[in-house]
Amino acid sequence: MKTISQQQVPVQDYRFGGEGIVIIGGPCAVESEDQIHHIARAVAAAGGHVLRGGAFKSRTHPGAFQGLGLPGLHMLRRAADAHGLLVVSEVTDTAQLQSAADLLDIIQVGARHMHNTALLQALGPMDVPVLLKRGFGATIDEWCGAVEYIMEGGNRKVILCERGIRSFETATRFTLDLAAVPVMKQRTGLPVIVDPSHAAGQRDLVAPLALAAIAAGADGLMMETQCHPEEALSDGAQTVTCEDFADIVKRVGTVAEALGRWLAE
Ligand code: PEP
Ligand code: MN
Repeated sequence: MKTISQQQVPVQDYRFGGEGIVIIGGPCAVESEDQIHHIARAVAAAGGHVLRGGAFKSRTHPGAFQGLGLPGLHMLRRAADAHGLLVVSEVTDTAQLQSAADLLDIIQVGARHMHNTALLQALGPMDVPVLLKRGFGATIDEWCGAVEYIMEGGNRKVILCERGIRSFETATRFTLDLAAVPVMKQRTGLPVIVDPSHAAGQRDLVAPLALAAIAAGADGLMMETQCHPEEALSDGAQTVTCEDFADIVKRVGTVAEALGRWLAE
């Protein structure tokens, strides 16, 4: 199993799929200018590279916090720029694509939208890196189909993200399919990162799943991080504290080095 992906995806100064492990941290959702600035500072201080934060959320229930929309993306960008980080955020509709592409370094397609073929096709002709999460009910083959929808339009900058699938198991929110990491690398040659947060559903499982993901060959991690996760408007239970994030990044570096890799620089 090669550690280097056949198709590396450059994003500004970083490269997904090389020896360097890329770390993404940030809240489930951008909630305020203050919240995202504090988190950005902590993510950067811990050695993280990319700031995440949802602004267009696809929540299960309509009464739940739906995100701040476009103003949220502006807040995310400002916070990231202030701390030398890149930004990734999810789009849920083709109408959001142009402003998202102007503001973000990476556009995320979430698990619930992996089957949104109109969105995938609209990303095809765009010159923007896409973080394509696996649908939680999607087989490997269906996930590959989603990749094809984007690539058919000419966009080769696709980064894959395993985030857990539905199984009979209820002890965790989803079941993290770590086999998907080497399998998708073999099938597509693309970089694969892992989101242990949405898979676990609880913060104490994020560290062990993150370390296991690196051991399985993941090219990066995306972890929901917030300085006061108990106050989060969404996904607080699976969100690690800024201190925990720093600790996990350190341990990820140790595992990476044992495998001849390192944290991206
Ligand atoms: C997210 O990363 O913000 C998210 C909603 O995750 P997923 O699409 O994997 O559920
Ligand atoms: Mn979330």
